[in-house]
Amino acid sequence: MNSAQNAPNSPKLTPNMGLKHRNTFGFEVCAELAYEITAAEQIPGLMQQIAEQKLPWRVLGGGSNVILPKLLPGATLLMNIPGQEITQSDESNALITVGAGVNWHEFVSWTIEQQLPGLENLALIPGTVGAAPIQNIGAYGAEVADFIDSIEAFDTVTHAFVTLPKEACRFAYRDSYFKQNPHRFILTKVAFKIPKAWEPRLQYADIAKQFSATDAKPTVQQIFTAVCNIRSQKLPDPKVIGNAGSFFQNPIVPDQQYGDLLKQYPQLVSYPDQAGMRKLAAGWLIDQCGFKGLRAGPVGVYQNQALVLVNHGDGTAEDILGLAKSIQDKVREVYGVQLEIEPNIF
Ligand code: FAD
Ligand code: NAP
Repeated sequence: MNSAQNAPNSPKLTPNMGLKHRNTFGFEVCAELAYEITAAEQIPGLMQQIAEQKLPWRVLGGGSNVILPKLLPGATLLMNIPGQEITQSDESNALITVGAGVNWHEFVSWTIEQQLPGLENLALIPGTVGAAPIQNIGAYGAEVADFIDSIEAFDTVTHAFVTLPKEACRFAYRDSYFKQNPHRFILTKVAFKIPKAWEPRLQYADIAKQFSATDAKPTVQQIFTAVCNIRSQKLPDPKVIGNAGSFFQNPIVPDQQYGDLLKQYPQLVSYPDQAGMRKLAAGWLIDQCGFKGLRAGPVGVYQNQALVLVNHGDGTAEDILGLAKSIQDKVREVYGVQLEIEPNIF
């Protein structure tokens, strides 16, 4: 792969790069060939060589939604493309294009400084802008798909850059075309459309509680601060204790199954979903099965939030996946519900 280094626009290559600090579980990981992608133009030549040499490859953003093995063979593309600019602004909307390597929370903070509210409920989510569409990140009743206009990406099938309109991304609850087809597109830029009309989203109890003492409509800055404070108190900081946020998706079950469960478990925590379906709180199911705070060797279930699995020190992907399996088995046995793992397993 040396010729990629000599070609114009070649990305920086580091052989055998340690990625302990680029995965929020803090697993000891070695990437055989790590390429730092700082411009979209670096991608076609590199992908050409990867294809010719039939190397395995993958893209890594901030590593906050992945479960990495000890060795990543072949090429690992570290997505570091910078840049953000407001490309258009009228009475109705602002269009902003952002490099895939930009830090998500810094981008959200910047939009608020620019007086472009909308993303405040998504503050403090770790990771990069380029990864946000992959699982259609969401929090407190907002999801990134609500604000995406289009995506620029390198298509690894046609070896050409494409602009994908939002409709092509097939966004769904914590899901997208990209998540379902992980080796098709390398996202290089995301174009956001931020509506100028703004309404606060306060339906989640933790947020609503912050503003319940007053009838006054909270400001964007107040909501942004509230979201940051709640998250900092409730979720483990990956710099202190390794984790990838929610480890399982909330299962969405048919009303009939929900009704049967509710008869047996009247305390069941759930929320309305699309017609005929109900979203169950996976954290509640796991908690009820007695896993909250449990330790299994170097890994465990976070004491304040049963949906978060943690690495207490020198855990590995095998340790986390072993614990995950015992949780899945127990929840299926008790509730007849299958929990799906949310982070991407490499
Ligand atoms: P990575 O983990 O590096 O990658 C995730 C996946 O995206 C991988 O499959 C990777 O190959 C792919 N990918 C990354 N960049 C690209 C690209 N440019 N092109 C193609 N594929 C790419 N998620 C939520 O939805 N809501 C939350 O509230 C939330 N809170 C979290 C809190 C904590 C403490 C943690 C640790 C995680 C949380 N997450 C949450 C999960 C995670 O932060 C998001 O999924 C985030 O978008 C992942 O970004 P990343 O850059 O770290 O992606
Ligand atoms: P929470 O507010 O305690 O809520 C627990 C669960 O109930 C969440 O999973 C949430 O679903 C659901 N819920 C709560 N109120 C709801 C409402 N009014 N309508 C619909 N669903 C409701 O959750 P938390 O753990 O503190 O997290 C807060 C937010 O940040 C959540 O939206 C969560 O998804 C997000 N978050 C995500 C991750 C991740 O890695 N994916 C990590 C941390 C936090 P939803 O998950 O569908 O919102």
